[in-house]
Amino acid sequence: MADQQRPGEASAIGIADDDDLAFEAPDRGSAEELLDAGAHAPLDSMRHSAAHVMAQAVLALFPGARLGIGPAIADGFYYDFELPRPLTPDDLAAIDAQMHASIAADHPFVRRELPFHEARALAAAEGQAYKVEILDDLAAKAAAAGEALPVTTFYEHGPFRDLCRGPHLASTGLIGPFRLLAVAGAYWRGQVSRPMLQRIYGTVWETQEDLDQFLWRREEAKKRDHRKLGARLDLFSFHDVSPGAAFWHPKGWRLYQTLRDAMREIQDRRGYEEIYTPPLVHQKLWEQSGHWEHYRDNMFLVEAEGQTFSLKPMNCPESTFIYRSRLRSYRDLPLRLSEYGVLHRNELSGVLSGLTRVRHFVTDDAHIYVRPDQIAAEIEGLMGEIREAYSWFGLTPTLTFGTRPDQALGDVAVWDETEAIMRAELERSGLRYRVKPKDGAFYAPKIDIQITDALGREWQTATIQVDRVMLPERFDLWYIDEAGRQQRPVAIHRAIYGSLERFIGVLTEHFAGAFPFWCAPVQAMVIPIADRHVEPGRELAGVLRGRGLRVEVDDSDSRMQNKIRLAQEQKVPVMVILGDREVEARIAAVRRRDGSQEQGVGWDDLAARLAEEAASRVV
Ligand SMILES: [Zn+2]
Ligand SMILES: [Zn+2]
Repeated sequence: MADQQRPGEASAIGIADDDDLAFEAPDRGSAEELLDAGAHAPLDSMRHSAAHVMAQAVLALFPGARLGIGPAIADGFYYDFELPRPLTPDDLAAIDAQMHASIAADHPFVRRELPFHEARALAAAEGQAYKVEILDDLAAKAAAAGEALPVTTFYEHGPFRDLCRGPHLASTGLIGPFRLLAVAGAYWRGQVSRPMLQRIYGTVWETQEDLDQFLWRREEAKKRDHRKLGARLDLFSFHDVSPGAAFWHPKGWRLYQTLRDAMREIQDRRGYEEIYTPPLVHQKLWEQSGHWEHYRDNMFLVEAEGQTFSLKPMNCPESTFIYRSRLRSYRDLPLRLSEYGVLHRNELSGVLSGLTRVRHFVTDDAHIYVRPDQIAAEIEGLMGEIREAYSWFGLTPTLTFGTRPDQALGDVAVWDETEAIMRAELERSGLRYRVKPKDGAFYAPKIDIQITDALGREWQTATIQVDRVMLPERFDLWYIDEAGRQQRPVAIHRAIYGSLERFIGVLTEHFAGAFPFWCAPVQAMVIPIADRHVEPGRELAGVLRGRGLRVEVDDSDSRMQNKIRLAQEQKVPVMVILGDREVEARIAAVRRRDGSQEQGVGWDDLAARLAEEAASRVV
């Protein structure tokens, strides 16, 4: 990896649509959510305390400001305000200065209780209409439940008081180093029909070092934005004629195919058989699978000859046609059917984002049909696939085991049995995992694969589900056991990368475009020093290509230093430089992306070594 990985806390910085927003702030709608200060851990209460101090500063500058809410969020805090005019950068500087003054004054945070009617009268007298609305909602809820009006709590510090459940720090002086980051519009209660408030985002940390690291990660995330890198490295582009679908340029498509082919190697070794089923499928299939009822809004529908078809949003049901194409016996199982099918999901155009939120994608999907007594061995095999595939990128995945949800289909005892097998295999795998109770699919317990990238951001990539209900029962699958009886197989839905589009988006940001040698779109750039070295350069490229390497020759008339700089900018891992001495002796000067150099390497030797390096998929 070219970029040094920084230590620091894991954080969830969302990939934002514009450069100023790098936060995940889920909409809060109900009165309960509005009162939740998000202060669930010690650092959170510092963040929420900073939000109060920010509101104090805003009120000092805009005495008539109306306050929305100001919770702690991942990596920071915000507060929403209704103000007479849009905030400017100068305003933020003034708010920042006021906050520093409040922190220097070390005002204690004091909790106060007030009877409901007094609290409401106070908020109304101060013109805080949004606070009044929250209180009225709480009163309505209490009335509906036949309960007494709640006692309300306020927190005060210095001249400021806010309706709040806390918790807070003991005093403003305990607030650590902070930075105001951005202003964005936010609808009150997340509803487009309500007023648009101005939301100020800030971040605060216990130490200056933590703050600096966070700011570095944030800047780095902007630089690594895969949409920008995708354009700069000529990998892919997006066009409004097909929102949410990538146009793959030659280099990006090489990367795509290299990743897919590496997974195909695992699949070949493990006895998968690849299938391909139609992307356009009749409505009746989705009625049978249950998707028509639950998932129709997410499907693209197509009419033909008075019939309704859909672009498939997943491959699952169609694989059952191949399973049922002949009589299956216990000896045929496991039957591992992989498919790189083209999938479409009708995501709202507003949520589409580069490769990570798309409408059109392909997954390294497989449906593995096994006997119940084969589940354990198959999960063990899949754990090995995960370990191997993620090691190609130097990534250590974390798994999340989602167990039976309340609305699950099928027999509880069967769920328990399946979950016990999966849990035992997770333990044996040696991979890190956590359990998320009731987070399984409604038809299957599942194992989600997550990775943490070089910036400490967590990404979900793929999922494995052990399905004993949806495909086996709804599609009436069976096999003949040793005694000649019909038995239900188990269907394991499996992906290791997940969506190739999303995976490439994540990898692009993780590596900042400097992909490992084995999968780099251009692995080596041949750099002839002068015109007379171009022909020999092409010959050398031929030698390297003969070993399956992806090689280009920079035959432009730029100077050598420019060619090297360009190859560096394009994050090409290996530069092979040819001058008179090299051409004469059929050797080359080799320069790596990390700056290391080697002189006098023979062409055949170079080709053999690079081919070996590519095949070993070391990072
Ligand atoms: Zn508070
Ligand atoms: Zn599936």
